[in-house]
Amino acid sequence: MYVGCHLSSVKGFENMGSEALKIGADTFQFFTRNPRGGKAKEINASDVERFLALAEGNGFGKLVAHAPYTLNPCSETDRVRAFAYECMSDDMRRMEYIPGNYYNFHPGSHVGQGVKKGIELISDLLNRIITPQQSTVILLETMAGKGSEIGGRFEELRKIIDRVEIKDKIGVCLDTCHVNDAGYDIVKNLDGVLKEFDDVIGIDRLHVLHINDSLNTLGAHKDRHAKIGEGQIGLEAILRVVYHPQLQGLPCILETPNDLEGYEKEIALLRQSQYSKK
Ligand code: FE
Ligand code: FE
Ligand code: ZN
Repeated sequence: MYVGCHLSSVKGFENMGSEALKIGADTFQFFTRNPRGGKAKEINASDVERFLALAEGNGFGKLVAHAPYTLNPCSETDRVRAFAYECMSDDMRRMEYIPGNYYNFHPGSHVGQGVKKGIELISDLLNRIITPQQSTVILLETMAGKGSEIGGRFEELRKIIDRVEIKDKIGVCLDTCHVNDAGYDIVKNLDGVLKEFDDVIGIDRLHVLHINDSLNTLGAHKDRHAKIGEGQIGLEAILRVVYHPQLQGLPCILETPNDLEGYEKEIALLRQSQYSKK
């Protein structure tokens, strides 16, 4: 099992690598740029080189880059969709400094245009972005279904993937808080939810887990993360997710409201389990 958390990318890759080591992580997630959008800092090749050596020497799993929240491929505004394209294509170029990792994004909000139109706009963007040469796999995140968000239902993600032409560069990241809030009962019926995921999307498309407790109840369509064991999902159910036989080997990324010390404790909590096996 690879476990880590969301880290600040402000001080670069080597810094994230040593922070990860310090807290017992062997993977992590980072924003490719300011989460509210804006221009990204150019990547420092020697910083990346030092990081890659550190990651290899310490047996790190795959990393997860997260697109900014303001990226909305299915906005009704041309300018917002143009930003989504520019941001994502620049991020794809920058991701090749750390080849073979994941790039996760929120599919977006259709803001009244309807789910069908939203799905078309999202898959159109992906078809303009994805090239056969890229080493990065792009992940659609499962969403809570808040407002006009796309991705609260597995069927919506499946429809996006169906329209993507280069299928080996597209996958899914499952967020435990989001699926709970979307109405998938991972507490009482994890096997059933995974079966549904497999039937609708295909479990082999699942590449990353976001491990979060939720402040809200099943089906609340809210999306407020809680610390592990302090929300409606609870520690036991979270452990059943991270140790589920069908989910072994996937990077588990904590996005709980914590500082580094809090993350260190939660990583230890996930690793301490009696089910523990690497
Ligand atoms: Fe996210
Ligand atoms: Fe998430
Ligand atoms: Zn969330």
